[in-house]
This record gives sequence, structure tokens and C-alpha cells, in this order.
Amino acid sequence: MLSTLKQYFGYASFRPSQKEVIDQILDKRDCLAVMATGSGKSLCYQVPPLLLEKTAIVISPLISLMQDQVMSLKQRGIRAEFLGSAQTDGSVHTKAQSGHFHLLFMTPEKACSTPLSFWLELLEAGICLFAVDEAHCISEWGHDFRVEYKQLHKLRDVLLDVPFVGLTATATENVRIDIINSLKMNNPYVAVGSFDRKNLFYGVKHFNRSLQFVDELVQEISKYARKAGSTIIYCTTIKDVEQIHKSLQEAGIKTGIYHGQMSSKAREESHRSFIKDELLVMVATIAFGMGIDKPNIRQVIHYGCPKSIESYYQESGRCGRDGIPSVCWLYYSRADFAKADFYCGGLRTVRIFVSSYLW
Ligand code: ADP
Repeated sequence: MLSTLKQYFGYASFRPSQKEVIDQILDKRDCLAVMATGSGKSLCYQVPPLLLEKTAIVISPLISLMQDQVMSLKQRGIRAEFLGSAQTDGSVHTKAQSGHFHLLFMTPEKACSTPLSFWLELLEAGICLFAVDEAHCISEWGHDFRVEYKQLHKLRDVLLDVPFVGLTATATENVRIDIINSLKMNNPYVAVGSFDRKNLFYGVKHFNRSLQFVDELVQEISKYARKAGSTIIYCTTIKDVEQIHKSLQEAGIKTGIYHGQMSSKAREESHRSFIKDELLVMVATIAFGMGIDKPNIRQVIHYGCPKSIESYYQESGRCGRDGIPSVCWLYYSRADFAKADFYCGGLRTVRIFVSSYLW
């Protein structure tokens, strides 16, 4: 196992929980890994197919995320591909079916709509695991619920004897139970790692939404952005996104914008430029979400309060994936809580968040 780790990834040892999860997968046991962002969850499903020379199926929520992963795995000499509408190479399906790939990525929609004959042939060739990345999307209690994830259990009855592996950075007890039940996991091994991101500094500041404050923020960011890596600024409204984006651009900082009302092409371009370090700052709503696998994000600023503590952990967690000290600032105003309370219909989540984090 260690020589495979060294050969393909260049690492000398496993991180906490990785080896345990891999051992359980090799024993064909279902697993649920709840481990912090950047802790190395992917390795848990990347190593078994290399050891067993069988295919690992990985369910991932986004095509762009799959494409990035496939590219970096190929660079390591690992046979990886994705199946989905964006796949232009017609031979991938046939190769995948015959067990050619170590790692085969699919969206949940694709996995559920792939014909039985494909699965039966691939089973014959050898499937060593069925991984569901961002598994919290299965749960209606989670913050990124995706209805297609709820259908994945149908494959359980087809992929008999294949261990199912759920992976997520955030799952409360309720969400964990939901994932286990929804994927019909059988006596799963549950690995819960530490959530402490030791390289992240968390700070909270009170602010009043005003043009004057935007100026102060822009000055702060200008000082920071020019000497460090990337910054993400999460805003609660598109109006705030546009205003801060405009102010930063006027200050001469290379700044991108991302929100749900932009066309998918414009969003894709913005995302790519940020990943390629052509932009220093990204100002976005939470639509700029999953799949931001950028190691050198040095600062995540919340201009207004996030929806829940899980959302905050996910969003701020995009900071400092490379382990280098990085900062997360949360700016809050009283009005945020009134608004959040209104949206939550009186749910106590926000108040609990406020009382444990701000006062
Ligand atoms: P996660 O999916 O948990 O957010 P990743 O799987 O993307 O995290 O891993 C985060 C980073 O840690 C990646 O750059 C990965 O190559 C690195 N990494 C993973 N496992 C190890 C290890 N055993 N030793 C050193 N680096 C590792």
C-alpha cells in the first residue's frame, strides 16, 4: 500500500483515517468518511483501484470538478475518465464497460440512467468500490441537497458485493444517518476525522453595510491581495456582489464575479480564470461553491452572515487547502440575523450560530 502511495502520489505516509478507510474498503465493507476539507479524502477511493487493478466508480456533483480530477489523475499515470454529457470521446463508454479505467467519474444522474447491461459487464470486469463524493448532498438535512443523490440506492441492488463509500467534509449526526440509510449501507465503518483546520485563523467583525465600509474593505483587500494568494469574498446578495466587484476593479485589483444569474458560460470562464490565478479576488454568492479545488486561497471573507454553521464551515473551508496559514473573516451586521431569521421561519440555527461564535 505504501509503495503504491509513493509510486503514484509521491507521499511517504498516510494521513489520519486514510489507511483505516482503505483497509475497510479492501475488506469490502461499506464506509462513511467524514473528514475535513483538505484532509485527503480522495486518496481513500484512489488507492484501492490501483492495488486491486479494478475500477472505482466515483459519483461527483459537478462536471468541472470531475474534469479537473481526471486531468490530475492522468498526470500521475492513473487511468481515469468521466462519463457524462460533456464527454466527447465516444470510446470512453466501451473502455469503461470493459474495466479499462482505475477511476470512472459520473454525476448521479448519469449513474442512475446508465443501462443495466453496462453495470453487469463492468461488474464482470471488476468494480472495487462505489464512492459518493460530497455525500452530504444525499440528505435533505444537509445544506446542498440534490434530489438525484436520493436515487443512488437503486444501484445497491445491482452492485452486489461492491463496497459503497460516502465521503463528505460536513455531516451532522442526522446527515450521517441519512447518508447511511439512503445508500442502504450495511454495517458501515464510520471514520470521523478532526474538523480543526489548524492553519486557518477565524475572525469576526461587526460592520454596517455602507459605501464607506466597502471602501475600507477594498483598501484592506488591496493591501492583502497584492502580496498573498487568492481571496474569495462571499456576499449574501447579488447586489452586494456587484457593488464590491465594481469597487475592487476600480481599485485596480484583478477581480472576478460569480453568481447564479450569470450564464453558465460566463460562470465557467470566471471559475477557470480564478483557478488559473489570472484573478486575485473572486466576489461571489454561494453559487460559487462545490468543486473549488484551489490550494492557495489565502483569505475567505464573508460579507454578511452565512446561512448555517455547516455552510460556513464548507465555504470558509476552501481557504488554505495547501496547509499554509490563511485567514477567514466574517463580517456581520444585526440586519443579517433578522433576514436569516425570516428565511429560516424562526429556526434556531442562526441564533445558536450567533451565540456560540459571536458573543
Ligand atoms: P479533500 O477531498 O479531503 O478535501 P484532497 O483529497 O483533495 O482533500 O487532498 C488535499 C490535499 O492533500 C491534496 O493536495 C492531496 O494530494 C494531499 N494529500 C492527500 N493525502 C496525502 C498524504 N497521505 N500525504 C500528503 N499529502 C496528501
